[in-house]
This record gives sequence, C-alpha cells and structure tokens, in this order.
Amino acid sequence: MAKVSLDRLKKQFGSSVAVSDFSLDIEDGELVAFLGPSGCGKTTTLRMIAGFISPSAGSIVIGDDDVTDLPVHKRNTGMVFQRYALFPHMTVGQNVSFGLEMHKVPASERDKRIGDALAMVRMESFKDRYPRQLSGGQQQRVAIARALAIQPKVFLLDEPLSNLDAKLRTEVREEIRTLQRELGLTTIFVTHDQEEALAISDRMAIMYDGKVQQVGTPEALYENPANLFVADFLGKMNFFQGKTVDDGRFVTDKGHALTVDTARPSTTQVGVRPERIALSSDPATANALPGEISNIVYLGAVIDIRIRLDTGETVSCQMPNSAASAQPSLATGRRVHACFRPDDCMAFQGEA
Ligand code: ATP
Repeated sequence: MAKVSLDRLKKQFGSSVAVSDFSLDIEDGELVAFLGPSGCGKTTTLRMIAGFISPSAGSIVIGDDDVTDLPVHKRNTGMVFQRYALFPHMTVGQNVSFGLEMHKVPASERDKRIGDALAMVRMESFKDRYPRQLSGGQQQRVAIARALAIQPKVFLLDEPLSNLDAKLRTEVREEIRTLQRELGLTTIFVTHDQEEALAISDRMAIMYDGKVQQVGTPEALYENPANLFVADFLGKMNFFQGKTVDDGRFVTDKGHALTVDTARPSTTQVGVRPERIALSSDPATANALPGEISNIVYLGAVIDIRIRLDTGETVSCQMPNSAASAQPSLATGRRVHACFRPDDCMAFQGEA
C-alpha cells in the first residue's frame, strides 16, 4: 500500500483550465472522495493519477515513486469506471485474467489470483459467464475484482455506482468500503453524489471550477463549511443575506435582527441547516422568525416543512418523523415561529 501525494497539479485543455493547483496528501489506507458538480475537474484529476492523461504542471508521487511521467501500466493503480468496461467477448475469469497478463503475472499464479479476486466480491461461481449474462451490480463487482487482482498500490474509482439503482448503489458502496478497509487500500473515489461521499469517505475533497474548495472529514465539512459553495453543495442550507451592525447583531435585508455567534463585520450571509430549525408557537430562543407553514413534504424518515415568513422569504425545516408526529397540529396555514440558536448559525462572506 502507499501514500499518494499530489503537488500543484494542473491540467489545461487548450485555453481552458480543467484543474488548477490541486495539492493533496492521501494517507496510506485512506479513502478520499473527490466530490463536486459536473465539470469541476474530478475525473480529469483521477485520470492524471491513473496516467491516462498527463498533467500540464505539478507532480504525482505514489509511495516513494514520482510517477508523473510513467505510463499507466507502470503506476500500479487499479481503476474502476462508471461503465464497467468489461470485454463482452471474454468470460468473467478471462476479464480478470487480462489485467494479470498485462501486469506480467506468471500463468502459474493467475488462477489463484483470479479465484481470490472473485471471492472478494462473491463472484467465484460466475467465473465462466459472459458479462451480458450478469446484472449491472454483478458486472461492477467483476470490474472491482479485475482492478484488485493486480494487487494495486492505489485503488481508483470513477463514479462506480452511477449506473446502479438506488438500493444496489448502497449495497455495492458498503461492499467497496468493507473491502477497502479489510485490504487497507489507499483509495480515491470520484462522485458527484453528496450522500455517497459522506457515507464512504475518511476525508473528502470538495471541488468546484477546477479548484479544491475544502478538504476534511465528512463531519468537519458538513458542520464547518469553509465557504458558501461548500455550505450550499453539501447538504441543504437556509441563507439570509444582510450585514453585521454595530451591536454585533446580523440584520438581514428583510429586516430580521439575528443573534449569530460567529458573525463578523465582513459577514454577508448567514446559513442555518434545516434540521437546526425548530417550530414553535411560543418562541423562547434568540432567533424566532414569524410566518406560516406553506408546505409539508413527507419523506419517510424525515418530514420537510416550508415556512413562509411574514417578510416573504421561505425557510426550510426538517424534522425526524417521530418529532413531527409529536406535533399534532402540524398543518399548512398554521402560524409558527422558525426558531434557531445563535450557535447553529454559520457566517459567510460573498454572494449565495
Ligand atoms: P463529470 O462529473 O461530468 O464527469 P468532472 O468533474 O469529472 O465532471 P471533468 O470530466 O474532469 O469534470 O472535466 C473538467 C473540465 O475539463 C470540463 O470543463 C470539461 O469539459 C473539460 N475537459 C475534460 N476533458 C477534456 C478534453 N479531453 N478536452 C477538452 N476539455 C476537456
């Protein structure tokens, strides 16, 4: 296994910069997700690490080796793609064997390596089947086995779950995580799905417009987003635009005076997570904004409630199903206060 060090990686296609100044150390055995919206440069970064494209600047070190200028097959990385990329005319066993042949694993060792890799993903009994005879989830398991059979130093996955249905996505995600932990594999997992990244990573790198916005554990990024982009992209957020006034309170453009623990003179936006908003008819907290319930959306485990404030803005509140059923008068049209604590407010600069 190995540590991966990316140092000021850059990729330019013609005059357009796809990735700029990407620096990150991924520890031995760590799983880091690259998360960001479409076009932010996640795949380009992963492809530079795998060696499919060469960086315009910067370096990539795997273990003790600078691999920046090495071809793909000399980097010892195992890659899994969104579209399984299995050879249709080869059986499952032959698909796994192909990678081993490319890596010059002697024929005498191959059968055992194929068996071991297929066993890891519980596909031993499918060895002689062709990809068309497998479901999407099974094909992706074979692709994982093929990548792991070469015993890579680094495991690279590019949106590996995007083609699977929701239930299978969770199942294969958990399998990948278990396997990665058991094998202690240094892993980079590219996704545009926030929940997936939160669920699978030790740390996440959030990207936007070719740049890393913030790196940290799922909890650190959700609880302490560094900027408006991260706050808005990772989970939901209610934003209030305004400014800090002389007594330290934050006055919104619509005239609410909020008590915000972390507000500074430069604060222009205050964010509050929907699950931090409580509804009360008799407010006792510092921040209580009057309005009426405009919509209730039943999502199963949680209930999403929209409040139209008297000043015209809409605030989103999310509560567990059990808490919602303890509030029998929850109904559209009901007058409420949207309440939140000063230490649940996040302060930001810039435009939301
Ligand atoms: P997605 O989730 O849609 O795959 P992404 O975050 O992985 O997005 P990239 O595929 O890395 O994004 O693309 C980053 C930027 O680089 C995009 O603006 C894209 O159009 C551009 N780009 C990627 N590959 C090339 C290429 N071969 N030639 C020109 N531009 C490219």
